[in-house]
Amino acid sequence: MKKKYDVIVVGAGPSGSMAARFAAERGVSVLMLEKDRDVGYPVRCGEAVGKEKLLEFIEPDRKFIAAEINKFSMIAPDGSEVVLPLDQTGFVLERKIFDYELAKTAAVAGAEILTRAYVNGLLFDGGKVSGVKYEYQGNQYQVESDIVIAADGVESRVGRWAGIKTFIDFRDMESCVQITAGNITVNQNTCYFYFGQEYAPHGYFWIFPKGNNTANIGLGVSGIIGKKRSALSFLNDFMKKNYPDAPILTQIAGGVPSAVTLEKISAPGIMLAGDAARQVNPLSGGGITSGMIGGRTAGTIAAEAIKSKNTDHIFSYDKAWHEAVGKRHEIYNRIKEGIYNFSDEKFNNIARSFSRIPLAKRTLGNLFKTALIHNPSLLIDVAKVFIVK
Ligand SMILES: Cc1cc2nc3c(=O)[nH]c(=O)nc-3n(C[C@H](O)[C@H](O)[C@H](O)COP(=O)(O)OP(=O)(O)OC[C@H]3O[C@@H](n4cnc5c(N)ncnc54)[C@H](O)[C@@H]3O)c2cc1C
Repeated sequence: MKKKYDVIVVGAGPSGSMAARFAAERGVSVLMLEKDRDVGYPVRCGEAVGKEKLLEFIEPDRKFIAAEINKFSMIAPDGSEVVLPLDQTGFVLERKIFDYELAKTAAVAGAEILTRAYVNGLLFDGGKVSGVKYEYQGNQYQVESDIVIAADGVESRVGRWAGIKTFIDFRDMESCVQITAGNITVNQNTCYFYFGQEYAPHGYFWIFPKGNNTANIGLGVSGIIGKKRSALSFLNDFMKKNYPDAPILTQIAGGVPSAVTLEKISAPGIMLAGDAARQVNPLSGGGITSGMIGGRTAGTIAAEAIKSKNTDHIFSYDKAWHEAVGKRHEIYNRIKEGIYNFSDEKFNNIARSFSRIPLAKRTLGNLFKTALIHNPSLLIDVAKVFIVK
């Protein structure tokens, strides 16, 4: 290991690996530090992604794809089910393998990677971040860098150490719980979403198939709800009612920052990417591919900054992210707020109206239209999603 790198990436999740890869591909020296023993484990994720976005980064491979999705099924509070064929394929991943494969692409590009390396502080040179402190096998180390990219996930502390405001209102922190269970007889090409007070107030409940009748079953509720009633109790009720004898293979809990991106995602010597920067799509709660886009943008700009010997270039990251994705997330966030306040009756009415549309004509756009008829005030925000590219 060297004493100094051009770029140090903290965290080897999807956003960290993409930051490391895209920086290393541009010929700068990169070290990625991961606190866990294995990249990609433990998994805290429903593992659903869209194919189109994934293709920007990696060729889909059977070894990390558990199920191929071509339908959504929406279940309203009164139990009425609406099936929506998708014009784009989706995947339910095996993230244990997927994250590992992403990290390998960073390694192939030339990044050095060290696991069991827990970053516990930053180095500063004047007011600028100039490296990290970390613990490895019980020993304390320091390593310098021109730029640190903090991709240390939802519980990120690195950004805060650098003085970046990483606070998120607890209402926007979705409290999530999920099990992976066996003997779940759902269609293996369909992702199921349940809405309403019984399943997941201010959020949604999901069943994502993982092949061989296994599935990820979980939910997210807003911090406000989670304070009064735990997400786990909603999950337990659902399982008791629907799959009382299902074998449980894993159980996880975690937060999803369903909010707009942080106001500042760069500061002297440091950039934030992925969940650490709150780059999750606030409407769906999906953060895998958006974090990868954040990581790619951060890694690319970091390398440009090194190459041009102008570390201030990293400040252009905020704007680049905002233009590429961030401004859409602002609109998604407003739509989320509208939808989360829907009553059970409204969800039921939308499902009933939508189920009258013939299967061949059901599209996500038509579903939105139906939702809009029942809630016209959403129209302005939805229109913006399609106009603001
Ligand atoms: C229950 C649940 C379900 C979800 N379902 C979906 C879904 O279906 N689809 C989707 O797109 N998104 C989903 N998400 C969100 C998704 O998991 C995250 O958005 C995504 O993992 C973010 O990637 P990341 O690289 O930013 O962070 P992470 O994947 O969290 O990676 C951060 C890494 O940093 C490491 N790290 C942290 N601190 C340190 C430190 N101090 N030193 C060294 N290493 C450190 C961690 O060990 C970890 O490996 C879900 C989240 C939850 C909780």
